[in-house]
Amino acid sequence: MKRAFTSIATGREKIILFGLFFSLAIFNFAKSEAKEFERNKDVQFLGIESYRDVDIANWAENVKFRPEVVFLPKTKNDLITIVNDAAKHGKRITIIGKGHSWNPLMEGSDYLVSTINLNKVWLNSEDNTVTVESGATIKQVDEIIEPQGYVVSCNIVGTTDITYGGIMATGSHGSGRDCPTMSDYIEEIEFIRSDGRVEVVSEASHGSQIMNAARLNLGLFGIMYKIKFRVEKSFNAEVIDQRVPLEELFKVLPDYLQYNQNVELLWFPFSPEVVIKSWNRTAESKREGSLGSRIETRLTKSMVYGSATRPIIKFIMKHFPNSVPSLTKTLSKGLFPNAHYIVGVNQAIHYVNEAVAYPINETEVAVPYDFDDLGSVKMGWDAMIKAVYDNAARGHHPLNIVVHMRFLKSSNAILSPAYRNKRTCYMDYGSYYQTPGWLELVNEIWSTWKYIPGVRLHWAKDMRAYKDLDIHRMYGAENVRDFLKVRNYFDPSGMFANDFIRGLFEI
Ligand SMILES: Cc1cc2nc3c(=O)[nH]c(=O)nc-3n(C[C@H](O)[C@H](O)[C@H](O)COP(=O)(O)OP(=O)(O)OC[C@H]3O[C@@H](n4cnc5c(N)ncnc54)[C@H](O)[C@@H]3O)c2cc1C
Repeated sequence: MKRAFTSIATGREKIILFGLFFSLAIFNFAKSEAKEFERNKDVQFLGIESYRDVDIANWAENVKFRPEVVFLPKTKNDLITIVNDAAKHGKRITIIGKGHSWNPLMEGSDYLVSTINLNKVWLNSEDNTVTVESGATIKQVDEIIEPQGYVVSCNIVGTTDITYGGIMATGSHGSGRDCPTMSDYIEEIEFIRSDGRVEVVSEASHGSQIMNAARLNLGLFGIMYKIKFRVEKSFNAEVIDQRVPLEELFKVLPDYLQYNQNVELLWFPFSPEVVIKSWNRTAESKREGSLGSRIETRLTKSMVYGSATRPIIKFIMKHFPNSVPSLTKTLSKGLFPNAHYIVGVNQAIHYVNEAVAYPINETEVAVPYDFDDLGSVKMGWDAMIKAVYDNAARGHHPLNIVVHMRFLKSSNAILSPAYRNKRTCYMDYGSYYQTPGWLELVNEIWSTWKYIPGVRLHWAKDMRAYKDLDIHRMYGAENVRDFLKVRNYFDPSGMFANDFIRGLFEI
């Protein structure tokens, strides 16, 4: 593998970038990042706040569409009204939370139901569960449960601005040796079915087969109105961020995985080191890291995420894509220095919350592994690193932000990429959105990934980039059949299946 590549931007490019950085710094280009519906076209269709003829884009802007009506319901009755009207007029329904998925599950041309106004939260401390309306975000739930001493300890990592409806429907996951995926924490889901009936599903009422299909439902079983899931008492985490030489990674990784509750790997293109983040539960009090590491992180964070500098970095990323790796490599050193500290577990989990400021393309698979057999993990890792250096040798930089790995247990959700594994490694990589060569990169890495035994794609990430996907083979023909049988029970009319799903599942 070619490792000699050191300088990405040419000398001239560097001077231009340097000049740009400082000349643009005097302007403040900051503008709202939120993709709001255009508020000037609202109607009160069916007595519900709604919008006609508005263009919808997801966060990464890789899914764009124009539904006939966008509904913003506020109550369960609103949801029932929408479904009954759709049934009467033969309309299809798709659902959107915060639109942070890359897969076009929300895409549709009839009715789009947004859950952003459905965000009530109830903590049930007598049985350590929380019940949420499906549009409640991680942040909104934490604001209620944290002050009362509770936490969602295996929660997703990347952002707190996503809904539990979206998290559960796509089988999203966090990280942790003993963690299942988020969908596995569900105790009960209240669905609005395509016939307008309300059906509350739990293992006790419907049995494990139906429940394990409903946990990760891709929005195909109806609209989830409420979700009840397990939480636990909050605790502190002792975090160690360690930079290790790239060549050493697979020598030290087995011990890291065996002896730590939580391990994540981050590699920023062309860095000679990998960041290994690990944490364990501790009874000790919170303790800050060294002064040096704190100053380094704070300064870099304010530069990367500050409202004045962020637009400049975005400008550079958009117009000088070949210099993105130099930026990432340099800035990531400041963001992730060696450090040792104790924080509340939520802080340990959501350590990259600000990253949502930079839209990226991302794709992800899960592969099975065990402590004494990291063959599949290494195969997946090497394919990503090799793609970075091979492309650089050709003068391309389609993988320019991060290579990332997380280590979990397994899942009981029938369509989960972690379904019934002993242990699961989720591996992903991401580039700044609209980076040239992304689709070619995905297929280049897939040409190796597809041979990893048990490899399965994560439903939240874009699957359209992959050619000739055989869903039945990937998730198991029997599992897909069982899933579709349960889906047919909830939605016999196919109201909730969009064209993307119909093509993928051949329904
Ligand atoms: C910055 C960032 C960080 C991320 N980090 C992680 C991570 O650490 N781990 C991980 O696994 N994933 C991660 N993701 C992916 C994310 O968890 C999923 O894409 C999740 O679905 C996003 O939630 P959302 O509210 O944006 O859902 P949306 O993208 O709006 O919705 C996705 C789909 O879920 C279904 N759905 C949503 N609500 C309902 C409902 N009420 N009823 C029925 N179906 C519904 C619909 O089919 C909908 O189209 C990340 C994404 C981003 C952008």
